[in-house]
Amino acid sequence: MPSLRPDQWIRVQPEGLLVVPGGFHVDPVRPVERALVTHGHSDHARPNNRAVLATAETLAIMRARYGEEAGRSLEPATLGETRRIGEVDVTFVPAGHVLGSAQIVLEHAGSRVVVSGDYKRRPDQTCLPFQPVICDVFVTEATFGLPVFRHPPDGEEIGKLLHSVALFPERSHLVGVYALGKAQRVIRLLRQAGWDRPIYVHGALQALCDLYESLGVPLGPLRPATEASKAELAGQIVLAPPSASADRWSRRLPDPVVAAASGWMRVRQRARQGGVELPLIISDHADWDELCATIEEVEAGEVWVTHGREEALIHQVRKSGRAARALALIGFEEDDAA
Ligand SMILES: [Zn+2]
Ligand SMILES: [Zn+2]
Repeated sequence: MPSLRPDQWIRVQPEGLLVVPGGFHVDPVRPVERALVTHGHSDHARPNNRAVLATAETLAIMRARYGEEAGRSLEPATLGETRRIGEVDVTFVPAGHVLGSAQIVLEHAGSRVVVSGDYKRRPDQTCLPFQPVICDVFVTEATFGLPVFRHPPDGEEIGKLLHSVALFPERSHLVGVYALGKAQRVIRLLRQAGWDRPIYVHGALQALCDLYESLGVPLGPLRPATEASKAELAGQIVLAPPSASADRWSRRLPDPVVAAASGWMRVRQRARQGGVELPLIISDHADWDELCATIEEVEAGEVWVTHGREEALIHQVRKSGRAARALALIGFEEDDAA
């Protein structure tokens, strides 16, 4: 029997999840002395922590976003390598969410706790696949923690986009994508599907696309959308943050078909509200089946659910005879919003 239960050494504070015997926080929402960061999305990686430990890719993303404010000292964590911090053994393991994303494995007093951050289980050419780790406590997100959320195969969704492009050669296709992860994933999926023409990108996506390329994720020919004439953009695919379709920026495009790539596109009403004509259900988060399968696979006796729709998932976990509770972390947002 472990001498201490994990909930006796891991605490929820206003700053975030505090690992007491290690003296550090995981994904703190307010600046702390020592932060361990799962991945670069801004609801997990915040600026101005004193010391940051994260994968080299996550640190590069934080530097690109925050510059000097990424943290006073940035230390790269090697995947699969265990280090001792205070009285805690810490290992970063791939999470399959975005480039550099990691689960953080914490071992102390005879228990193993896995803080998975955000994760997904389907293949993604822009990052390493999720690696299940057997544990006593699994801390899981529940962004899509309802049985209605079942993401179709990505190839099918990209096929819809390419079909529409073929159908409307005189129109442009404007795809709303989140700048970190989703943009690069959609580009890779298009390349996989054989789309080798230039892909036009909004200025807000360029820096992270460049960073992905420099870290070894080839994206093929990309062009700034603002440098192309209206006529040139007919029959082309343009990627932009979701908000761009509603503002003046999109006026430069010839009669755009407005698409969006997000797990939320499963909800028709949400697509309609966003003026999305062509919803593409492509997510960097686990869907309901992936959440349930992962919880089984890691064999955790106890599951802490955060970040989304806790109730349904907690109910499901308890039905399988495991303990489950909501971990009320504040400050998390939907990084997969459309
Ligand atoms: Zn995320
Ligand atoms: Zn998140």
